[in-house]
Amino acid sequence: MFILPDLPYGYDALQPVLSSDLMHVHHDKHHATYVNNVNKMLADAGRAAASMEALVREAAAKGEQKLFNQSGQAWNHAFFWECMSPERSAPSGELAKAIDRAFGGLDGLKTRFVDEGAAHFASGWAWVIAKGGELSVISTHDADTAIVREGVTPILLCDVWEHAYYLDYKQDRKGFLEKWFDGIANWRFAEAQFAAALGNGQGYRYPAPS
Ligand code: MN
Repeated sequence: MFILPDLPYGYDALQPVLSSDLMHVHHDKHHATYVNNVNKMLADAGRAAASMEALVREAAAKGEQKLFNQSGQAWNHAFFWECMSPERSAPSGELAKAIDRAFGGLDGLKTRFVDEGAAHFASGWAWVIAKGGELSVISTHDADTAIVREGVTPILLCDVWEHAYYLDYKQDRKGFLEKWFDGIANWRFAEAQFAAALGNGQGYRYPAPS
């Protein structure tokens, strides 16, 4: 059984960027449903998984689309909660240098990230990823996840499904992404992920199943 990871902060901690109502619906309803569906699909199939990461990759490799959708969404949301923090921060160290190399600075990354997320058609995710020590911005559709891409470490992730912002921003995805990037992006977490990408530490792992 996989657990639904708790938010690493209070439901109201990300206000005014994200409301407590939105966080409750997003975590307690949307994310919970994905985790419950993964557990049900595994139980129905009499199947166990060593980790959520292994399950996502196995489902992708075997073309098990329904299981991939549920497990990918379970993993992406757990990672997404870590990518936000009520503590305002800015990139430093190796991550800051990599941002300068790839985007000419934090403003360049913001423009690229907001543009990618705002232009992404329909449901999905906007990512900062590292590959070979260099950063790039991508988006993925539906439940697709950067952890099934060879040699890629996810650094930062924002949910651009409508359920991630509609309660607070209506149709204004771009406004949501700008406030998200400026106000609650968790650069301490992004730095730890980038260190893992460079071989220092293992990076984020979904809580192991019981
Ligand atoms: Mn979501």
